Amino acid sequence: MIIKYITQGRCPNCYQGYIFKEPVLLSLSLGQIHDRCLVCNYNLKKEPGYYWGAMYASYGLGLLEMLLTYLACRIMGSGTFDWVNLWAMCLVVLVLSLFNFKMARVIWLYIFP
Ligand SMILES: [Zn+2]
Repeated sequence: MIIKYITQGRCPNCYQGYIFKEPVLLSLSLGQIHDRCLVCNYNLKKEPGYYWGAMYASYGLGLLEMLLTYLACRIMGSGTFDWVNLWAMCLVVLVLSLFNFKMARVIWLYIFP
């Protein structure tokens, strides 16, 4: 259930307000975070540099996406190590980079509320 709130970019305190000013999945921007939750007034901008730690979550998301892409390539019949696998993994991570950037911030906020 909490994964649903994370993917929707909901507040980790009330699960109703949104963290970003625009939708997380559909936006092509880097995503601006509200200063406070519009529903419960929860502080979403903790301190300067708080979201630097989201890089760890972004790294994990990228690894997970690369692993899933690799497994998909293997299921579709490519070899153990194939240049197609490598290019497919890089393409997927590149295409999902904006999504990862925003989702990593949300995950970081849920891990360290
Ligand atoms: Zn809230």
